[in-house]
Amino acid sequence: MKYLTGQNWHSIQAKEITELFESDISDGLSPLSIKHREEFFGKNILKETKQDSKLKKFFMQFHSALIYILLGASAVTAFLQEWIDSGVIFAVVIINVIIGYIQEVKAQEAIESLKNMMNAEAIVIRDGIKINISSIDLVPGDIVLLESGSKVPADMRLLECKNLKVDESMLTGESLPSQKNTDIHKENITLNDRDNMTYSGTYVTYGRAKGIVVATAGYTELGKIAHLIENTTAMDTPLTKKISAFSKILLYVILALAAFTFVVGILRDNSAVEMFMASVALAVGAIPEGLPAAVTITLAIGVSRMASKNAIIRKLPAVETLGSVTVICSDKTGTLTQNKMSVTHIYCSDNTYEITGNGYEPKGDFLQDGNKLEFFSDELKDLLRAGYLCNESYLINKDGHYSINGDPTEGSLIVSALKSGYEERILNKTFPRSDLLPFESDRQFMATINMDVENNQNILYLKGSVEKILNISEFEFIDEKLVEINKDKILEKVKEFAGQGLRVLAISKKLVAGDKIDSRLLDNKFIFLGLVAMMDPPRPEAIEAVKESIGAGIKIIMITGDHALTAFSIAKMMSIVDEGSKFEESVITGIELSKMRDSELIEKVSHARVFARVEPEQKLRIVDALQARGEIVAMTGDGVNDAPALKQADIGIAMGRGGTEVAKEAADMILSDDNFSSITHAVREGRNVFDNLIKFITWTLPTNLGEGLVILFAIMLGLTLPILPVQILWINMSTAIFLGLMLVFEPKEDGIMKRKPRKPNSSILRKSMIVQMLVVGVYMLITAYGMFNYAIANGHSVEYARTVAVNIFVFVELFYLFSCKELQNSVFKTDIFNNKFLLLGVGLMIFAQLTFTHVSFMNIMFKSEALDIQTWIGILVIASGVLFVVEFKRYIESITVNKTV
Ligand code: ADP
Ligand code: MG
Repeated sequence: MKYLTGQNWHSIQAKEITELFESDISDGLSPLSIKHREEFFGKNILKETKQDSKLKKFFMQFHSALIYILLGASAVTAFLQEWIDSGVIFAVVIINVIIGYIQEVKAQEAIESLKNMMNAEAIVIRDGIKINISSIDLVPGDIVLLESGSKVPADMRLLECKNLKVDESMLTGESLPSQKNTDIHKENITLNDRDNMTYSGTYVTYGRAKGIVVATAGYTELGKIAHLIENTTAMDTPLTKKISAFSKILLYVILALAAFTFVVGILRDNSAVEMFMASVALAVGAIPEGLPAAVTITLAIGVSRMASKNAIIRKLPAVETLGSVTVICSDKTGTLTQNKMSVTHIYCSDNTYEITGNGYEPKGDFLQDGNKLEFFSDELKDLLRAGYLCNESYLINKDGHYSINGDPTEGSLIVSALKSGYEERILNKTFPRSDLLPFESDRQFMATINMDVENNQNILYLKGSVEKILNISEFEFIDEKLVEINKDKILEKVKEFAGQGLRVLAISKKLVAGDKIDSRLLDNKFIFLGLVAMMDPPRPEAIEAVKESIGAGIKIIMITGDHALTAFSIAKMMSIVDEGSKFEESVITGIELSKMRDSELIEKVSHARVFARVEPEQKLRIVDALQARGEIVAMTGDGVNDAPALKQADIGIAMGRGGTEVAKEAADMILSDDNFSSITHAVREGRNVFDNLIKFITWTLPTNLGEGLVILFAIMLGLTLPILPVQILWINMSTAIFLGLMLVFEPKEDGIMKRKPRKPNSSILRKSMIVQMLVVGVYMLITAYGMFNYAIANGHSVEYARTVAVNIFVFVELFYLFSCKELQNSVFKTDIFNNKFLLLGVGLMIFAQLTFTHVSFMNIMFKSEALDIQTWIGILVIASGVLFVVEFKRYIESITVNKTV
């Protein structure tokens, strides 16, 4: 095989290229040659911009203010030959670095793993069969099919082409899509002019094509400029940025404070070494070093939880925004409904028929006025046949289990035709198709030309929305006679069907001379054949999810290309509109929308619950109008034309199964099951992530405050330090690992979907949380100091008294952890056993503290001393007091709030 790279493929005959690659335009590659090529070329994937090595990542962990301070302290103590202190401090540095490293790697893994779920798909022909594969698995010589919304998966020479337009702006800078063809071109032309080629990474915005892969991975034009591709796995979000900024300010304040105390101490004739250690203690105690890591970990856990519930986050900030969503605009078909269509009613030549049956199994009866139909009129047979022929889907029978390959709307038409007795084999032979114009939402119809072999004539079939079809239909068959069409009567019927929530399609035909579809043929003189009405039941879980969302203060808006009445009826079934709502107020159609001025739309959008017969382009206006009202908008979409709206929405959501690559690329989140209820799951997780972050912050900051205050007091008043720097290190490290980290695993609060969405610009901590932190910090200060002095007064050693103070800090934190499980509710009404990790952490913490106090080795390292039983009881009683203090504060708040209301 001569696989040539760097060829001027655009100037070589297509046939020659297929031969060169030993491929086949209709059958593609054979399995064996694919295997060889995979080995030879490897995966069709661009190497990432080089990631930091593990070693570098590890050493980067040393780069933090806290670590520098600690290393300094370790050096100074070593210089003073305080070997144990120096060793302990150094050990803490190492442990901190290791934990930091593990956290970062884990968080990054969680995010990286999402990337694998987001690989683009490609449609290829291999071994004569059309299949979907991950575009990573493409090899040169593969025959690939492109359609509107596809991401071009490799560099390709086009073999067949139908109105193909490709957005190549990322490669050529050309903002208008370029129109492609299969002509051969001169050799010396630039990329922009090679109209018979498409290049990896560009997007099909219109039309279809078939092409042969000529280059993959690093050999593609994109591969040559791969460094331009941005790395999408940044861990920054608005929240992490806010918190880093906050931590930084805090850091400077604390360092300044530490420097200040150092100077004050020296002026008071304290020894420089002693004051240095005291300042270190202050800095170490007061800097909330665990905060940024905790934020990242919490976000990462949120991301993986969402992924397990079919919501794949593409952009990390979405995790935060999800918790604030106030409106979800959702597609109807397939997202709110099951997209399992079955034709239930047919209207044809003044007659209405009902069709029975189950799923896609082609078995069922036609009923007229409740009686089984024995004789099928020619008109009915013509209509059913048209539905079968003007169709791109296939019915698949796998051991008696029937499914649809393609669009279920079309699938249901096949099923109904087969129920009437048609045979696929015969229809395909007697009415072969010569041309096709696929269905597109914008256009609202599809067309085919089929040759009626027996009568030697070409028939142009058209099926689509009632409005489109009636507009160009002029005749119909009544009593076997071709007469002028009576549109009013047909529209009456449409109302009847749509009012039951049925999706209605109209079908028409006309005879034509040629065998190619020409847009001039599509304007007039069609013969109306009939209406087909199909049921697409709501997803039961989506009904639940709608209810839950509304309870959570989130508005649901249905956006659909379907008929207004159909959409309204389904919206009613799903309680998206209230039972008593008026049609006029709740529904806005695309035509009305196009006539509205922006100001008018902004006003009306507050009542609207259904947008029907809208074109995808109009979604952008809807998002804009909602955002102008201050809403935080989540918007779903799947097609190319949905992309602008997905980008503009606060949360753009693309469909994982039915969505195009363009939509996915524009989205913040992808639903791998296309299911509305997955959005609600994600919102719930988003709220939980935020809750847990706030819980962690409210829990962790008082300790820093308390420790800082204790040291500051001691220095300012010239007293003995009630806790030593190494002891502070011990407290912070052990409580962060055993207690704080476990808050990340807090399950969702019961009422999480009963409150209103969080205001996105509100400060992270509410006033009442800040008050709570102050109260607890001061409680730590008073109790630690009090117990320290009490021990001294009772004749205990300083070491003993310090051990008491350390235990006070740890146990206050331990009890306070339970107050932080729920931030509103009373701790006495909280289910304190629902987080197993937290209980395990508490157990470990108690064990660690017993070791700290009673094991001689720890006594030497941390200068602690064994305590007697009375002291232990005193510590536990006083520490548990924090529960009551917090409770009291919440009680006071509740009565003052009630008063103001
Ligand atoms: P949605 O996906 O929101 O339900 P669509 O844009 O798919 O809306 O459909 C809009 C209208 O176009 C439908 O009401 C139907 O009349 C018509 N339609 C839908 N699918 C097809 C199809 N495959 N072929 C022809 N017409 C269709
Ligand atoms: Mg659709």
